[in-house]
Amino acid sequence: MTDASGQIRLASAHQQVVASVGGVGGSGIVASENLSPGQDSVSKMGVSPPPSKTPAKRSPKDYIFGKAIGEGSFSTVYLAKYIHSGKEFAIKVCDKRHIIREKKTEYIKREKEVLNLLASVPRLTAPFFVKLDCTFQDSNRLYFVLSYAKNGELLHHIEKVGSLDVPCTQFYSAEVLHALEHLHSLGIIHRDLKPENILLNEDMHILITDFGSAKILSPDDEKEVEAECSDDVDTDSSNGVDEENGAARRARKRRNSFVGTAQYVSPELLTDKPVSRCSDLWALGCLIYQMVAGLPPFRSRSEYQIFQKILKLEYEYPDGFSPVAKDLVEKLLVIDSKQRLGSKDDLTGEHGGYHSIRSHPFYEGTNFDTLHCSSPPKMYPFLPKTSEHGEMRSDYSVPDNLEPGLDDRQLTRLLGLDLQDATPVATVPVATSPPPVTPVKKKSTAGIVSGRTGIGELLWGLPKETVEDVEARRRRKMEAQLCEAKWHPFVEGKLIVKQGLLDKRKGLFARRRMFMLTLGPHLFYVDPVAMVLKGEIPWSQELKVEPKNFKIFFVHTPNRTYYLEDPEGYALEWCQAIQDMWTYTYGILPPVNSDMSSNPSSSGAS
Ligand code: ATP
Repeated sequence: MTDASGQIRLASAHQQVVASVGGVGGSGIVASENLSPGQDSVSKMGVSPPPSKTPAKRSPKDYIFGKAIGEGSFSTVYLAKYIHSGKEFAIKVCDKRHIIREKKTEYIKREKEVLNLLASVPRLTAPFFVKLDCTFQDSNRLYFVLSYAKNGELLHHIEKVGSLDVPCTQFYSAEVLHALEHLHSLGIIHRDLKPENILLNEDMHILITDFGSAKILSPDDEKEVEAECSDDVDTDSSNGVDEENGAARRARKRRNSFVGTAQYVSPELLTDKPVSRCSDLWALGCLIYQMVAGLPPFRSRSEYQIFQKILKLEYEYPDGFSPVAKDLVEKLLVIDSKQRLGSKDDLTGEHGGYHSIRSHPFYEGTNFDTLHCSSPPKMYPFLPKTSEHGEMRSDYSVPDNLEPGLDDRQLTRLLGLDLQDATPVATVPVATSPPPVTPVKKKSTAGIVSGRTGIGELLWGLPKETVEDVEARRRRKMEAQLCEAKWHPFVEGKLIVKQGLLDKRKGLFARRRMFMLTLGPHLFYVDPVAMVLKGEIPWSQELKVEPKNFKIFFVHTPNRTYYLEDPEGYALEWCQAIQDMWTYTYGILPPVNSDMSSNPSSSGAS
């Protein structure tokens, strides 16, 4: 229980646990200001001295709590304003009973310990961590007052634009690397480095967060890591090691319960090896891969399968992956942690750092010491270059006042811009025009044959349908009706205005999906093999289509750009249909024309 001044009075088991959470370094939970770790290490690392602070007890009454900006498994994070200065903070509020119930006491303790260490030993060139301003508590909750990362998680930004271009990947991974240099020089291993735990501040610089899984290495730990490494060498070189001894040693060594997140966990964390800073370098490799490709390298439905892939180093580089980034990732994703790039680098002293990584060609021209004061490259909606198409960018950002309509002029301009170097077919102007790639129709010899006027034409005028044509049309109609019935369960009974198979691209990966544009409006997409509804592109007035060529078009929404490719080449029809639906829903123009609603599967349906 806490008295009016915020002091802890121990009376129950519950309170004792809370006291232990707050009691790191004997400081109590009251405020981080009281902690000031190792001054001697400060000068050695060329970092600035800890700021002098006046301890002050704070309470929730010192803040105006605004909206909830995030939800953790046992905490809620609020945007809050400090009433005495008007400064904004992110306050992580943890429910004490929940922490105890979920046995997360250690997690909270460690998080506070690391945040305190980082706040008291900052490195001027690497202010890349969420900063703990102070902590306090009331009878039910613990409060962590943190610097506010206004631009949220890096993951959200990668997902919004699909993947990052090379300059962005260089910049953000360089900030992460520099942050790791500082973290590791303090003997802290993050152990859960991933794009969700890399937040972005107002200026789009990184702030690494979530230190609950971190490990602070003691000098003994460091020795153990070294001993273990040499032990491994002995084992490898010794023939006929006694099986029983080997098993016993492995059992003794098995100390790494799995921490972190499956996709980014290093092989040594899954086996008997001790944890070392190299585990974060593995995660850095996964991160760089994800920035370039759009998805992490090791993916599967189950954690078990992900672990198997990690242990077998089973992953692929998709078509279009930057070769220089590939070379770096390959040198980081190395099973033997001692062979990982950076593993042998010395981090101590003023000039310590991951020099072998810094000097990789991927970082050519990067000045690590000035990253924090340079302007981060802008993240654009972007489809990376592959062997099939060039790089496609969009400078789209959600405009304040959307101009409705995608008229002929606009389409022509867009296509003119994108297809300047393309074949003459690119001059086909509007979405309602026939698609450039006309499916080859088998014609009867009774009809028109290769430009020569046939008997059918003379008798019936142009164009003439053959008996086969009529038959084929009837068959197509029946198939379309059957097809519609098959897809209807996914669209909640709504009228399908247009449907067709599209490749939904994410970074360098593509998945084929059945897209269905329905009244509502909705844009559902279904896995056509598993016949599972995978999601829908959220409609809002801000939704905007952007054709890039006859196959590829972008659908921009406030939170994400969707990159879609129609393998049949009907991208313009899709753009037109979506635009018509937009006008029908939000505009003042008449509803979609009757052709579209009465003939839902006329184009692109399959
Ligand atoms: P878990 O506790 O389950 O590991 P978590 O680490 O995501 O989850 P929190 O640290 O409570 O949990 O954060 C919850 C969410 O709040 C995060 O996903 C993040 O988006 C947001 N958040 C956390 N800290 C900040 C911050 N300093 N600034 C802005 N947003 C933040």
